[in-house]
Amino acid sequence: MVTYKPDFRKAYKLANEILLKSREIKGFPFSVTKVIKEISDIQCCSYDRAHKYDIDIESFGSDAAILTEYAGRLIIFYNQQDIQPRIRFSMLHEIGHYLLEHKLKTENLNLYEKQEVETNYFAAQLLMPEQTLIEIQARGKRISTDFLVSSFQVSKEAARKRIETLNKIKPEYRTRDEKEFDDLILLKYKMFLDSIMPAKNSYNWFDDEYERQQERDTWC
Ligand SMILES: [Zn+2]
Repeated sequence: MVTYKPDFRKAYKLANEILLKSREIKGFPFSVTKVIKEISDIQCCSYDRAHKYDIDIESFGSDAAILTEYAGRLIIFYNQQDIQPRIRFSMLHEIGHYLLEHKLKTENLNLYEKQEVETNYFAAQLLMPEQTLIEIQARGKRISTDFLVSSFQVSKEAARKRIETLNKIKPEYRTRDEKEFDDLILLKYKMFLDSIMPAKNSYNWFDDEYERQQERDTWC
């Protein structure tokens, strides 16, 4: 029997490409529906509206969002009664399945789980990019569940999971390409990062150097 292992690199790379290219994502939290519109042809439709079109929403189960084919089109249906953070995560989870070319209907439990893990990782990376969290931490702010909930509009559960994976990251395992992505992402979201926590001493260093040079210039 084939066993499937989650391809974290693939999910991570895809999320990073969107973080870099998207014009809709300028900081966090961002509008999930606008981003889905920007990166795909998939339509988003609330359960309320689906109900009006006589779509059997009861068959969707208890998920906050579901990607399914209807009248020859792929649509993400979402339960507007659920809490916003859950809807946002679920919608990105669903678009992740599509972008990662997952098999939507699979009987293979092992493959199903691999796909779930991959797309959860993809959604988490988009909503709370690892690079920005590491940078915020380096600037001296503690990354707590409450901080992620309020600054990134995610659920407590998603925030807790993020912190767990964050503590397992070994930056030295990053390839050169991945590190390049990290730098570009930090550059793009500099304003957002500064609004959370200004970089430590970045100006002082130049000031000091300037003054020291002036001092040196007066020596001769
Ligand atoms: Zn799924």
